[in-house]
Amino acid sequence: MGKKMREKIKEYMSRLEDGIRALTPADLEQFLRFRRYFRNYSIFNTMLIYMQRPNATLVAGMKKWNSLGRRVRKGERAIWIFVPWFKKIEVKVESETDSDSEKKETKTEEVLKGFIMRPVWDVSQTEGEPLPEDLAPLPAPEVKGNVSLKELYHRLIETSPVPVKETSLPYNEYGFAVVRGEKHIQINNAHDLKTKIVTLFHELAHIETPEKVKGREEKDVIAETVAYILAGMYGIDNLKGSAVYLGMFESRPIEFMEYVVGIVERISDRVGDMADYRMVENF
Ligand SMILES: [Zn+2]
Repeated sequence: MGKKMREKIKEYMSRLEDGIRALTPADLEQFLRFRRYFRNYSIFNTMLIYMQRPNATLVAGMKKWNSLGRRVRKGERAIWIFVPWFKKIEVKVESETDSDSEKKETKTEEVLKGFIMRPVWDVSQTEGEPLPEDLAPLPAPEVKGNVSLKELYHRLIETSPVPVKETSLPYNEYGFAVVRGEKHIQINNAHDLKTKIVTLFHELAHIETPEKVKGREEKDVIAETVAYILAGMYGIDNLKGSAVYLGMFESRPIEFMEYVVGIVERISDRVGDMADYRMVENF
């Protein structure tokens, strides 16, 4: 890898980290709408595309565009993303039948050696043949404000990976998630529908948060951020929205963003109202 490439990677890595650290939950909500177009990319690459071209909808390398009969317009600035760099190596395989045998077979394996940066361009930077139908632009993302709240609540319960029960709890409690043993969620039946939905978002996030996240506060930062974003996506005012937790999100490690984005995407995919996305071969 050349010195220039290493410098470029370093520069983009630090821009990426700064960009992610500066994200507020409201930015994250906007980013999730953007990400709808780039679901087959890693979160980091989506972030890189977002930072360099916030209106991008479909990116590909030069070769891919040319194969579609399109040209990148002169003077257009490339968008740089990371692509994995694999190296083929020979590995010895021991025979399973007799391990004492001296005979060793070899096979070729691809090993991830690192990442390099590759330029891609957005469709809006290209011209030429019309796009094939399966690559035609998606309609603009919508706020899902017109999903009936009742329907949304039922879909969330139906598609929850763990049983959800409404029970009578002390009024100042919203609900809770039991994440060990017989996992389940309880929602306080004394509250209104909006509160119950936002609570369910929060508790579902607890169920889906990786076990390696330790600490009650850490877990609630993730759960509150997920609830806030989902509430925004479905057009619900999150009255309960806990500003304290949302403020803390900004100082969390980068992994938190990956968790939040992953959980939001899983929940909204299950509810089935998330617009479909398409797979585009990168190169
Ligand atoms: Zn909680």
